Amino acid sequence: MEFAARIADDNPIILIPIGATEQHGPHLPLGSDVVMPETIALMVAERIGAIVAPPVCYGYKSQPKSGGGNHFQGTISLDGGTLVALLRDLINEFARHGARRIVLFDGHMENQWFIVEAIDIALRDQRREGVRDLRVMKLGYWEFINAETETVLFEGKPFTWPLEHAAVMETSVMLHLRPDLVRVERILDHPPAAFPPYDVYPFDTSLIPEHGVLSSAKPASAEKGRRVLKQIVPDIAAALKQAFA
Ligand SMILES: [Zn+2]
Repeated sequence: MEFAARIADDNPIILIPIGATEQHGPHLPLGSDVVMPETIALMVAERIGAIVAPPVCYGYKSQPKSGGGNHFQGTISLDGGTLVALLRDLINEFARHGARRIVLFDGHMENQWFIVEAIDIALRDQRREGVRDLRVMKLGYWEFINAETETVLFEGKPFTWPLEHAAVMETSVMLHLRPDLVRVERILDHPPAAFPPYDVYPFDTSLIPEHGVLSSAKPASAEKGRRVLKQIVPDIAAALKQAFA
């Protein structure tokens, strides 16, 4: 009843966290890519009166150069077509219930083009239904981290976002949000993975670190995680307000 009233009263923004069940090295849980976007979405929602839907806990296959790859134990993934179908259904269902402002709130880099595809097809579905005022946003929370916060996180040292899988950013954010889920004593110190600028399949798994972490999480800290959240939560809230004004 509360949901129905909210939809009728103020056309609330609906945030759907989308993650993955994916190995995150020896120190982070398989659900990291769900815990982070769901928690961040709840913090954003509190600021702007949005609604956070139950998260999608599985995502597109982990890729060797951005998530360690799909061969790791505990990495339980969806085929691309399955993910597109699932997200298309969710958008169409929320639209059927009257939602007109939907955000696919991503926590797993590999999901992004499947999210775009689901949005594109669902918008086409809705146009056929005669619905023309539906707007859907795709966002990855990590894309809001600005240059100043990057300097805090990486202390001015070189880094690349794809290699940040289970590394400084994710470990710092988890240490801040859910220290109970981080095994600090298992964080490894190792050089970043190195890959050629092309991909041959089946992928040569000898190029992937056996522990599944693509660059070391050693410099991670709860304080760095706090700084990330302090910057991105208001910035995401402001972006949603602006985009859906
Ligand atoms: Zn992750």
